[in-house]
Amino acid sequence: MLLFRKIWLRATLLALLVLCSTPYTYATSQTAPNAPHPINSKKANSTAYNGTIFIYQTSTPQALHYNNGKKSLHYMLHPSKKGEFIAFIPIGYYDEGVKTLHSPKQTESSPQTIKILQKDYPKKEQINVANDKVSYSNEVAKRIEKEKNAAVKTYATITKGRLWDKPFIKPLDSAITSPYGSARIFNGKVNSYHGGTDLRASIGTPILATNDGKVALVQDRYLSGKSIYVDHGSGVYSVYFHLDEFLVKQGDMVKQGQVIAKSGDTGRVSGAHLHFGIVINGTNVDAMDFIEQVNALF
Ligand SMILES: [Zn+2]
Repeated sequence: MLLFRKIWLRATLLALLVLCSTPYTYATSQTAPNAPHPINSKKANSTAYNGTIFIYQTSTPQALHYNNGKKSLHYMLHPSKKGEFIAFIPIGYYDEGVKTLHSPKQTESSPQTIKILQKDYPKKEQINVANDKVSYSNEVAKRIEKEKNAAVKTYATITKGRLWDKPFIKPLDSAITSPYGSARIFNGKVNSYHGGTDLRASIGTPILATNDGKVALVQDRYLSGKSIYVDHGSGVYSVYFHLDEFLVKQGDMVKQGQVIAKSGDTGRVSGAHLHFGIVINGTNVDAMDFIEQVNALF
């Protein structure tokens, strides 16, 4: 009986020790209640897939940088929660490892990090287009460079706040013919990845603005053909490529669902379709994933 008592006492003490140590471990690993607390509407805290956005939410926005100080968080009001702010952090297609968020002074003892998970994107897609769309003369190379710079300049223009207050929509209701992220080989030569979503559209199909915004750039480009760039504020841009006809001009304010163009087959294409993309702070992310994540905030 005495032996049984001794064993029981030891077991109780051991159980108490385990119970006491568990909350202590939690307390040290948790974020202080008032500190900015990164959240992601769908996935576990502080992880995000390459080619998607990480939604940072806080009630006390403060200056934060990522990509070694090259990019800043651009805060906007949360679309449905009063007193809360959000910022979209794009995770690039080629990003891996960890994305670190730090203040401009880099004084924090433990900067916040986002662990990047690798998504299984479609591996390879062979596309055959006209030869002059893959090997260029000097003159064409210069034009492509100039057009690329115009896009980079557009994406770097940050309109404060958000210009939208409704969910995002697909620019037309049709099947996806090529998703974001597929590795691409044009005529067996150029290797890149698909930065947008291709949607089935015969020539002349009405194309709708994905959300409210300002038309930032309207340009007939060598590779993307007739193209429209819409600024949605805080570094969020939507792009519509290979169009046949423009129905808006630079500087126009557009509404969600407004017909901004007719689809076509201009630029480097193998047939008529719409290339639709979302660019955050200059980084292409999966537009379909963006729409799903952002609309879940409503
Ligand atoms: Zn495309």
